[in-house]
Amino acid sequence: MSGTRRTATNVLLHTALENFYGAAEEMRLDENLIAVLGNSERRLEVSVPTEMDDGSIKVFKGYRVQHSSAIGPSKGGIRYHPDVDVDECEALAMLMTWKCSLAGIPYGGGKGGISCDPLTMSMKEKERMSRTFAARIAPIIGTWRDVPAPDVNTGGQEMVWFMDTISKMHAQVEPGIFTGKPISYWGAKGRTAATGYGVATCGLELLKVLGKEPASARVAIQGFGNVGSYTALVMSEAGAKIVAISDVTGVYYSAKGIDIKKAFEHIEKHPKKLLEGFAGADKVDYDIVTADCDLFFPCALEGAVNEKNADKLKAKWIVEGANAPVTPEADKILDKNGVIVVPDFLANSGGVIGSYFEWAQDLSGYFWTEDEYNQRLMHIMKGNFKLVWDYSQGKKIKMRRAAFMAAIQRVADVTKLRGNFL
Ligand code: GLU
Repeated sequence: MSGTRRTATNVLLHTALENFYGAAEEMRLDENLIAVLGNSERRLEVSVPTEMDDGSIKVFKGYRVQHSSAIGPSKGGIRYHPDVDVDECEALAMLMTWKCSLAGIPYGGGKGGISCDPLTMSMKEKERMSRTFAARIAPIIGTWRDVPAPDVNTGGQEMVWFMDTISKMHAQVEPGIFTGKPISYWGAKGRTAATGYGVATCGLELLKVLGKEPASARVAIQGFGNVGSYTALVMSEAGAKIVAISDVTGVYYSAKGIDIKKAFEHIEKHPKKLLEGFAGADKVDYDIVTADCDLFFPCALEGAVNEKNADKLKAKWIVEGANAPVTPEADKILDKNGVIVVPDFLANSGGVIGSYFEWAQDLSGYFWTEDEYNQRLMHIMKGNFKLVWDYSQGKKIKMRRAAFMAAIQRVADVTKLRGNFL
């Protein structure tokens, strides 16, 4: 169409742009708005010199991308992974804009990360790297500017290093700049499990609208980190049979069902919180995407379901716990095969909704009980699931397209209200 479309060689950014342009066209969104929202407000690259334990200095590359601040401060995690680059951060930042918009919380979208392999680094090396990174992105983050959070391979400890560094720079305690902090240091009860609870809630709501009982569903979950483990726990507590789980150490399968509490106990004892050596299931050597199950939760990394394995998927339903785990090519194959997909930015929004609760508590200095937190989270997740499900049924479109259209509409409305030059 017009010259407002961007192209990208990075697969994830290409996917993010294609999904956006496709939905924007179906909505007949104004070309100016397509141009504004198809670009990011800011893409920052920083170098992160870090003293390693052997005394040498390694210079890592770090990024923070702010896709949008139309609705409010940019919001989104920081990941530590060798594949992190600025385009990947931008794609994930765009996804955060739609996620926050659909969730109905007062944020735009951002994402950041460091290209590194945290699994090979000591705690002290990670601390030095994290603190330098926080200082380098300090000029563009803030309670009312951009609020980072955990993502792949980061958690409460990294948030404490970040917050402590910025608090020292500002000579005052700064709890509202980062979310996903430990309960003992300005965190919120419920935040750790929030993403997984939300993902599982979407799985259970999907079963409900399809008229299925949780006990009749055989479930496979890819990834046993923060998202996958709590998704597994909540699904098994609801009565579903978890037949397969996995992490970087392999795939663990049991037709009888896996005792998820035992898997939790196992990772708690493992130095890197991994399933390695887990005796509660058989270790198998096939791709978990192809596991014999009804409901599949990809809760690991992007691109897990792709054109190579999508046709071999046995599950009838997918709930995306990870960000962008299904490639657009795979999406087409799944659609042809009648597989229903609950999209990432609806399914895993429990994390950022939980972050919003934490931020609101930090700003008011008044903390809720875990019960209050979970009640409010469930309420919002169920409402948002219903909104997207009903919209997709009414318009006879996929849930992903419906979610995109609802999310883009809110950002477009605010952008128009404020004027094009934000
Ligand atoms: N990293 C999470 C996500 O992708 C949480 C982001 C946040 O809480 O800001 O949604």
